[in-house]
Amino acid sequence: MADVKKYETDIAIIGSGGAGMAAGIEARDAGASAIAFEKATDLGGAAIISGGGCCMVGTPLQKEMGIEDNPDLAFSEWIKWGGPGADVVWARYYIEHTLHDLYHWAEKQGVKWVDMKPQEGNSVMRWTRPERSGLGLMTNLIKSFRDKGGEIVNNTEITKIKMDGDRAVGFEGVNSETGEKVDVSCKTVVVTTGGFNSNIDMVLEARPEFKEYKVMEGSGRGSTGSGHKLVTEVGGYLTHMENVWFYVYATPDYLDPGQKRGLVCRHIPGYVWVNQQGKRFHNEALSGGNSASPAMLAQTPPHAWAIVDKEMKSTLEIADPYYREGDQIVREKVEELLANSPFIKSANTLEGLAKEIDVDPTTFIGEIERYNKACEQGLDNEPDFGKPLKLSKPFDTAPYYAIQFFPLARKNFGGIKTDIQCRVLNKHFEPIEGLYAAGEACGMAGGHINGRAGLEGTMLGPSIFSGRVAGGWASNKAGFGAGFVGKPNRP
Ligand SMILES: Cc1cc2nc3c(=O)[nH]c(=O)nc-3n(C[C@H](O)[C@H](O)[C@H](O)COP(=O)(O)OP(=O)(O)OC[C@H]3O[C@@H](n4cnc5c(N)ncnc54)[C@H](O)[C@@H]3O)c2cc1C
Repeated sequence: MADVKKYETDIAIIGSGGAGMAAGIEARDAGASAIAFEKATDLGGAAIISGGGCCMVGTPLQKEMGIEDNPDLAFSEWIKWGGPGADVVWARYYIEHTLHDLYHWAEKQGVKWVDMKPQEGNSVMRWTRPERSGLGLMTNLIKSFRDKGGEIVNNTEITKIKMDGDRAVGFEGVNSETGEKVDVSCKTVVVTTGGFNSNIDMVLEARPEFKEYKVMEGSGRGSTGSGHKLVTEVGGYLTHMENVWFYVYATPDYLDPGQKRGLVCRHIPGYVWVNQQGKRFHNEALSGGNSASPAMLAQTPPHAWAIVDKEMKSTLEIADPYYREGDQIVREKVEELLANSPFIKSANTLEGLAKEIDVDPTTFIGEIERYNKACEQGLDNEPDFGKPLKLSKPFDTAPYYAIQFFPLARKNFGGIKTDIQCRVLNKHFEPIEGLYAAGEACGMAGGHINGRAGLEGTMLGPSIFSGRVAGGWASNKAGFGAGFVGKPNRP
C-alpha cells in the first residue's frame, strides 16, 4: 500500500491561482494557518499566464489620466453588458471594493499597477495592468502568501473532499511525482481550482450545440473542472455553466497531441477575416467575446480565415509560453508555426491562397480588392463593416497567409454557486458547512458575477477579490478574524 502523507491546518486551499493565493493571504492575515495544494509543478494557474488586467473603478491611475469614473457608472455598464444573467449583488460588491480591496490591497502585496487599456463595453478605461502582467501579479501574491507563513504543496492533485456528516473537514489527493497519497485535515476547505475550459468534454457538455464543430481548449492547463466535480460530489450546486466566454482569434496548437488546445494570435491589426464562403463578415477591430464571437459563431461552419500579408505578419504575437522568452516574442518560433501548422496556409498570390483555403477565388479576391481600395483612398473606415483603417494597409506583399481561426473556450462565467461569504450552496441554496469556493471555479465569484459577457478584467479581478472573501470567512468559521470586512468606495 502506498504511504499516506498527512497534513493538518486551519484552512486548506485547493489551487494556487489568483483566488487561492488571495484566500491564503487573507487567512494568514486573520491568524489562521493555511496550506494551498496545487496539482501542477508550476504555481499560479491561469492567473500567472494571464494578461493580468483587472477591471477597477476610481483608481489613482484613472485619476492621473483625468478619467471620471464611479461605481454607479461601472455597475450600469456591467449589467448592460452581462445581461440579466449577471449577479447584481456580487457585481455591486466587487465594483465597490475594487479601489481599496483590490488596487491598494494588491499594492500592499508588492504589485505595481502600471497602465490601462480600453475594452469593449466600457465608456471609460478600467482594465488596469500590473507590471509584468499576470506573471508580475502572481509572483507577488505567491511571495506574499509564503512570506506571511503560508505553505504551498505542488504536484498534488486533490481528488476527494472529506465530510464528517454534513461538514467538510479536509480532502484527499495524490502526489503525481511519488504516487504518495495525501490526507489533509482542516477546519475549513477553500476550493479555488479555476475553470473548466481546458476540458473539452465539459465545454461541450455545457454547450452541446458545438459538438459537430471544432472548438478549442483555451484556459490554463490546470483548468479542467476538477473542483466542480469535487464540490458536486458533496452536494454543491452548479449554475450558469453554459456561459462559456469564447474568443475567436485563435488557431489550433499543432504541437498539442489531438490539437485540442488553441493559440491566441495578437497584434495583426491590419488583417481581415473571411468565412468559408470567402466573404468578410465583421469589423475585425471589434475582437471581443461579445462582438466577434457571436459574429463568427453565426457563420456556417463557425470558423474563419485570418488573411495576413508578409509585412503584417512581422507583428504577429502568439500568446503562449512556447513562443516567448520572458516578455519577448521569439520570432523564429512564430515562423516555425507559420511554416508547419496544417491550419495555416500560404501562397504567393491571392488566387493561390483562395485555392489553398478552398474558397471561391472571385468572391475572395473581390473582398480583398474592396478593402485595398478603401485603404488606398485614405478612408477612415472601410465601408462594409466600418473597420477603422488607421492601422491598415493594402494586401500587396507576398507571400500571403491564411490562419484558420476556431472558437476558443477561454473563460467560464458560470460555476459553483456560493453566497456572498463564498460558502458553497447546495441545491436548496443552503450552505454546506466548512466548504468555501472562489474564483473561476465559481464563474469568477458567486456563480455568475458577469452574466453572459464580461467587460474584461472582470475575471482575474473578481477571482482575486472573491478569494479574499472566501479566505476571510473560512478563517472566521475556523475561529480566526472577523470575516471579510473590506472598505467600499462610496462618497
Ligand atoms: C491566457 C489567459 C489570459 C487571461 N487574461 C486575463 C486578463 O488579462 N484579465 C482577466 O480578468 N482575466 C484574464 N484571464 C482569466 C483569468 O486568468 C482567470 O479567470 C483567473 O486566473 C482565475 O483565477 P483562479 O484562481 O480562479 O484560477 P486559476 O488561476 O486557473 O488557478 C486554479 C489553480 O487550481 C489548480 N487546480 C485545479 N484543480 C486542482 C486539483 N484538483 N488539485 C489541486 N490543484 C488544482 C490549477 O492547476 C490552477 O493552478 C486570462 C486567462 C487566460 C487563460
